[in-house]
Amino acid sequence: MTRTYAVKEIFGPTIQGEGLHAGMPCLFVRLAGCNAWDGRAETRAASACPYCDTDFRGGTPLDLPTILLRLDALRPRTPDPGPRTWGCVLTGGEPLLQADQALLAALGAAFAWVDIETNGTRPCPPRPANVFISCSPKAITGQPVVVEPDWWKILIPEQQAFLDRALAGGTPVFVQPTCPDGGPVGSVYAENVRRCVDLCTAEGCRLSLQLHKYAGVP
Ligand code: SF4
Repeated sequence: MTRTYAVKEIFGPTIQGEGLHAGMPCLFVRLAGCNAWDGRAETRAASACPYCDTDFRGGTPLDLPTILLRLDALRPRTPDPGPRTWGCVLTGGEPLLQADQALLAALGAAFAWVDIETNGTRPCPPRPANVFISCSPKAITGQPVVVEPDWWKILIPEQQAFLDRALAGGTPVFVQPTCPDGGPVGSVYAENVRRCVDLCTAEGCRLSLQLHKYAGVP
Protein backbone atom coordinates (compact mmCIF):
# COMPACT_ATOMS: atom_id res chain seq x y z
CA MET A 1 0.00 0.00 0.00
CA THR A 2 1.26 3.48 -0.87
CA ARG A 3 2.50 5.45 2.11
CA THR A 4 0.75 8.76 2.63
CA TYR A 5 1.51 11.70 4.89
CA ALA A 6 -1.12 13.88 6.57
CA VAL A 7 -0.27 17.25 5.02
CA LYS A 8 -1.83 20.38 6.46
CA GLU A 9 -0.56 22.71 3.75
CA ILE A 10 2.08 23.22 1.09
CA PHE A 11 2.79 26.84 0.30
CA GLY A 12 5.21 29.39 -1.08
CA PRO A 13 7.22 30.95 -2.46
CA THR A 14 8.18 32.77 0.69
CA ILE A 15 11.31 33.26 2.76
CA GLN A 16 12.62 31.20 5.62
CA GLY A 17 12.23 33.56 8.56
CA GLU A 18 14.25 31.69 11.15
CA GLY A 19 17.53 29.92 11.75
CA LEU A 20 20.61 29.44 9.61
CA HIS A 21 18.77 29.94 6.30
CA ALA A 22 16.84 33.03 7.38
CA GLY A 23 16.16 35.32 4.44
CA MET A 24 16.49 32.61 1.78
CA PRO A 25 13.70 31.73 -0.68
CA CYS A 26 11.79 28.57 0.06
CA LEU A 27 8.63 26.53 -0.03
CA PHE A 28 6.92 25.11 3.05
CA VAL A 29 5.49 21.67 3.74
CA ARG A 30 3.46 21.62 6.92
CA LEU A 31 2.67 18.14 8.22
CA ALA A 32 -0.37 17.75 10.44
CA GLY A 33 -0.38 16.80 14.12
CA CYS A 34 1.78 17.59 17.12
CA ASN A 35 2.75 15.83 20.33
CA ALA A 36 3.03 19.08 22.31
CA TRP A 37 -0.57 20.22 21.94
CA ASP A 38 -3.73 18.78 20.40
CA GLY A 39 -4.39 22.06 18.58
CA ARG A 40 -7.65 22.97 20.32
CA ALA A 41 -7.99 26.54 21.64
CA GLU A 42 -9.42 25.34 24.95
CA THR A 43 -6.32 23.23 25.75
CA ARG A 44 -3.59 25.58 24.53
CA ALA A 45 -2.94 27.41 27.82
CA ALA A 46 -2.18 24.14 29.61
CA SER A 47 0.02 22.77 26.80
CA ALA A 48 3.80 22.83 26.49
CA CYS A 49 3.44 25.65 23.94
CA PRO A 50 0.87 28.19 25.17
CA TYR A 51 2.19 30.67 22.55
CA CYS A 52 1.67 28.36 19.55
CA ASP A 53 -0.04 30.19 16.69
CA THR A 54 -0.05 27.33 14.17
CA ASP A 55 -3.06 25.46 12.83
CA PHE A 56 -1.83 21.91 12.35
CA ARG A 57 -5.03 19.95 12.88
CA GLY A 58 -6.51 17.67 10.27
CA GLY A 59 -4.61 17.52 7.03
CA THR A 60 -4.98 15.74 3.72
CA PRO A 61 -3.38 12.35 3.04
CA LEU A 62 -0.86 12.81 0.21
CA ASP A 63 1.69 10.37 -1.16
CA LEU A 64 5.27 11.39 -1.88
CA PRO A 65 4.92 11.89 -5.66
CA THR A 66 1.95 14.19 -5.06
CA ILE A 67 3.87 16.23 -2.50
CA LEU A 68 6.76 16.63 -4.94
CA LEU A 69 4.42 17.60 -7.77
CA ARG A 70 2.75 20.26 -5.66
CA LEU A 71 6.12 21.65 -4.62
CA ASP A 72 7.31 21.69 -8.21
CA ALA A 73 4.20 23.58 -9.28
CA LEU A 74 4.93 26.31 -6.73
CA ARG A 75 8.56 26.87 -7.66
CA PRO A 76 8.89 29.79 -10.07
CA ARG A 77 10.34 29.00 -13.49
CA THR A 78 11.27 32.50 -14.50
CA PRO A 79 13.31 34.32 -13.62
CA ASP A 80 15.82 31.67 -12.59
CA PRO A 81 14.78 30.79 -9.03
CA GLY A 82 18.36 30.38 -7.88
CA PRO A 83 19.02 26.67 -7.44
CA ARG A 84 21.86 27.25 -5.01
CA THR A 85 19.70 29.10 -2.52
CA TRP A 86 16.22 27.67 -2.97
CA GLY A 87 15.10 25.56 -0.02
CA CYS A 88 12.23 23.73 1.60
CA VAL A 89 11.04 23.96 5.20
CA LEU A 90 9.49 20.80 6.62
CA THR A 91 7.44 21.93 9.57
CA GLY A 92 4.31 21.15 11.55
CA GLY A 93 3.00 20.51 14.06
CA GLU A 94 5.77 18.09 14.76
CA PRO A 95 7.09 16.88 11.39
CA LEU A 96 9.12 13.98 12.80
CA LEU A 97 5.91 12.25 13.85
CA GLN A 98 5.52 11.42 10.15
CA ALA A 99 8.70 12.16 8.19
CA ASP A 100 10.55 9.08 7.01
CA GLN A 101 13.79 8.43 5.13
CA ALA A 102 12.03 8.48 1.74
CA LEU A 103 10.52 11.92 2.31
CA LEU A 104 13.79 13.41 3.55
CA ALA A 105 15.77 11.91 0.67
CA ALA A 106 13.31 13.22 -1.90
CA LEU A 107 13.24 16.74 -0.47
CA GLY A 108 17.03 16.78 -0.18
CA ALA A 109 17.31 15.85 -3.85
CA ALA A 110 14.82 18.50 -4.94
CA PHE A 111 16.19 21.49 -3.00
CA ALA A 112 19.52 23.09 -2.15
CA TRP A 113 18.67 22.87 1.54
CA VAL A 114 15.89 21.52 3.72
CA ASP A 115 15.18 22.63 7.28
CA ILE A 116 13.28 20.25 9.56
CA GLU A 117 11.64 22.35 12.25
CA THR A 118 11.20 19.98 15.17
CA ASN A 119 10.62 20.08 18.90
CA GLY A 120 13.29 17.40 19.13
CA THR A 121 11.32 14.72 20.93
CA ARG A 122 11.30 12.28 18.01
CA PRO A 123 14.38 10.69 16.44
CA CYS A 124 15.20 11.79 12.91
CA PRO A 125 15.45 9.13 10.18
CA PRO A 126 18.65 8.97 8.09
CA ARG A 127 18.89 12.12 5.97
CA PRO A 128 21.04 13.64 3.21
CA ALA A 129 23.76 16.09 4.21
CA ASN A 130 21.72 19.07 2.97
CA VAL A 131 18.78 18.23 5.25
CA PHE A 132 19.19 20.08 8.54
CA ILE A 133 17.58 19.73 11.95
CA SER A 134 16.45 22.97 13.57
CA CYS A 135 15.41 22.06 17.10
CA SER A 136 13.11 24.32 19.09
CA PRO A 137 12.90 22.27 22.28
CA LYS A 138 9.70 22.13 24.28
CA ALA A 139 9.18 20.92 27.84
CA ILE A 140 6.71 18.14 27.07
CA THR A 141 5.91 15.88 30.01
CA GLY A 142 7.57 12.51 29.62
CA GLN A 143 9.00 13.30 26.17
CA PRO A 144 12.66 14.29 26.42
CA VAL A 145 14.57 15.95 23.60
CA VAL A 146 16.41 13.18 21.73
CA VAL A 147 17.75 14.76 18.53
CA GLU A 148 21.21 16.19 17.99
CA PRO A 149 20.33 19.31 16.01
CA ASP A 150 22.35 21.31 13.52
CA TRP A 151 21.23 24.35 15.45
CA TRP A 152 18.97 25.20 18.33
CA LYS A 153 16.19 27.75 18.46
CA ILE A 154 15.31 28.62 22.03
CA LEU A 155 12.06 30.52 22.57
CA ILE A 156 12.52 33.24 25.16
CA PRO A 157 11.37 33.30 27.86
CA GLU A 158 9.19 30.16 27.88
CA GLN A 159 11.86 27.59 26.94
CA GLN A 160 14.93 29.29 28.42
CA ALA A 161 15.51 26.25 30.66
CA PHE A 162 16.95 24.51 27.56
CA LEU A 163 19.59 27.19 27.01
CA ASP A 164 22.39 25.56 29.03
CA ARG A 165 22.00 22.28 27.18
CA ALA A 166 21.99 24.07 23.85
CA LEU A 167 25.06 26.15 24.64
CA ALA A 168 26.95 23.03 25.73
CA GLY A 169 26.51 21.43 22.33
CA GLY A 170 28.82 23.51 20.16
CA THR A 171 26.23 24.16 17.43
CA PRO A 172 24.66 27.58 16.75
CA VAL A 173 22.10 28.70 19.31
CA PHE A 174 19.40 31.10 18.16
CA VAL A 175 17.29 32.89 20.74
CA GLN A 176 13.86 33.96 19.54
CA PRO A 177 11.47 36.22 21.47
CA THR A 178 7.89 35.03 21.73
CA CYS A 179 5.08 37.49 21.18
CA PRO A 180 1.78 37.11 23.04
CA ASP A 181 0.05 39.61 20.74
CA GLY A 182 0.22 37.58 17.53
CA GLY A 183 2.90 39.58 15.75
CA PRO A 184 6.18 41.37 16.41
CA VAL A 185 4.48 44.14 18.43
CA GLY A 186 3.78 45.22 21.98
CA SER A 187 5.61 45.86 25.23
CA VAL A 188 5.92 42.19 26.25
CA TYR A 189 7.51 41.41 22.88
CA ALA A 190 9.88 44.35 23.28
CA GLU A 191 10.93 43.04 26.68
CA ASN A 192 11.48 39.55 25.25
CA VAL A 193 13.61 41.01 22.45
CA ARG A 194 15.71 42.82 25.06
CA ARG A 195 16.22 39.53 26.94
CA CYS A 196 17.36 37.88 23.72
CA VAL A 197 19.82 40.66 22.92
CA ASP A 198 21.22 40.30 26.43
CA LEU A 199 21.70 36.56 25.83
CA CYS A 200 23.48 37.29 22.57
CA THR A 201 25.96 39.62 24.20
CA ALA A 202 26.42 37.52 27.33
CA GLU A 203 26.38 33.98 25.89
CA GLY A 204 27.18 34.29 22.19
CA CYS A 205 23.68 33.37 21.04
CA ARG A 206 22.27 34.59 17.73
CA LEU A 207 19.10 36.70 17.51
CA SER A 208 16.19 35.17 15.57
CA LEU A 209 13.41 37.63 14.82
CA GLN A 210 11.08 35.72 12.47
CA LEU A 211 11.91 37.78 9.38
CA HIS A 212 8.79 36.59 7.54
CA LYS A 213 6.60 38.43 10.04
CA TYR A 214 8.50 41.68 9.52
CA ALA A 215 8.31 41.17 5.76
CA GLY A 216 4.58 40.45 5.94
CA VAL A 217 4.80 37.10 4.14
CA PRO A 218 3.35 33.75 5.35
S1 SF4 B 1 5.74 21.95 19.12
FE1 SF4 B 1 5.53 23.65 17.65
S2 SF4 B 1 3.68 23.20 16.43
FE2 SF4 B 1 3.63 21.87 18.28
S3 SF4 B 1 2.37 23.03 19.74
FE3 SF4 B 1 4.55 23.56 20.13
S4 SF4 B 1 4.95 25.42 18.90
FE4 SF4 B 1 3.03 24.49 18.14
